[in-house]
Amino acid sequence: MDENANNYSQRAARQLLESWQRSGITHLKHVVPAEPMKISTGEPEAIIHPASTPLPESRPAFREMKIVAEPEPALVTQQTVIPTNEDQTETDESQKEMDVPRTTKSKLVKADRQSELNILAEKVSKCEKCPELASTRTQTVFGVGNPSAKIMFVGEAPGADEDKQGEPFVGRAGKLLDKIIEACQMKRSEIYIANILRCRPPGNRNPSDEEAANCRGFLDGQIEIVDPDYIVCWGSVAAKNLLRSDLPIGKLRGQFYEYGRARVLCTYHPSYLLRNPSAKKHVWEDMIDLFQDMGIELKAQK
Ligand code: URA
Repeated sequence: MDENANNYSQRAARQLLESWQRSGITHLKHVVPAEPMKISTGEPEAIIHPASTPLPESRPAFREMKIVAEPEPALVTQQTVIPTNEDQTETDESQKEMDVPRTTKSKLVKADRQSELNILAEKVSKCEKCPELASTRTQTVFGVGNPSAKIMFVGEAPGADEDKQGEPFVGRAGKLLDKIIEACQMKRSEIYIANILRCRPPGNRNPSDEEAANCRGFLDGQIEIVDPDYIVCWGSVAAKNLLRSDLPIGKLRGQFYEYGRARVLCTYHPSYLLRNPSAKKHVWEDMIDLFQDMGIELKAQK
């Protein structure tokens, strides 16, 4: 690693640590990765490697990043079955403080992941770091889904419906997200779903940088515990905050990024699709790319 990249990684690691500390997280079970952190921030090119095979011209260049783990072998059935991390039975022996996103696979069993998520959710429910959000929320909206999911979805922030029900993506955008999940022949319960923020911003305004930073440790905690192979950032707020990139979503699409052990894909937010239905085809292309990377061929349903 050259000196610039090294300084860059150290800065990114420091920022991440600080964000966890701001969120009151001082201790997370799991392993300190042996490798240096590979985090894509404002300079995604730094970790992306050109793909060997060009894609059709109608689509953005889908470039391949460095492969950390080989994808699972192809699994193509009518009802696609996505293997989860549940089969593992060992428990993590080295439970040390975590200071960067994990680069090694978690060995925690599903039940342990769920209890760790519950502990974190309890902490989130008491959070008052963002006074405006804490005083206007009905409740915090932590996250939902399979604690051993292979795929994690990250959205922006709860809206009015989510604030009322305490679950991410249950409003109009959520209904569309459900349809996308169904089109991918998956069930919502197989995925883990969270947001950049765990409180609703009043009037559904965009999260401020400070709010996103205050909540970052919680998101990183969820990623650390669920340990997904893939993260999908829905919309520019999710992409910008997770990857620390200012590029528009149209530019971020079409390639994978690394966040710790996870491969990250960015696509349009379902709310954007409600306003711009013609962009749905691009999201479908992104889903095809995601599943292709897992060795699964998605077919349009008739
Ligand atoms: N939009 C989001 O980004 N997240 C939700 O939970 C709901 C709507």
